[in-house]
Amino acid sequence: MIVEESVFVRIYNGSQRNYYIDAGYAVRKGAKCITVPVHALPPYSNTVVTAKCSCGESRRLPMKRYNEILRGGVYMCAFCKKYK
Ligand SMILES: [Zn+2]
Repeated sequence: MIVEESVFVRIYNGSQRNYYIDAGYAVRKGAKCITVPVHALPPYSNTVVTAKCSCGESRRLPMKRYNEILRGGVYMCAFCKKYK
């Protein structure tokens, strides 16, 4: 799971801005950042989130990486992945 409910995202370019506008978020013209719910992040996002394993272990990593290591939609730390 992800600890944060919402995250602070930097807006680097127009396509990124349009992504959030299309998703229904208000992004002011010229805005350099926006706060969005974690689920609104694109799967390939480099925004760093805190992933927490069911054992309590947590780790900061980019959303992109988080999605890569999910197992059946569940995040596991390296230890649990190996021994559970
Ligand atoms: Zn764990």
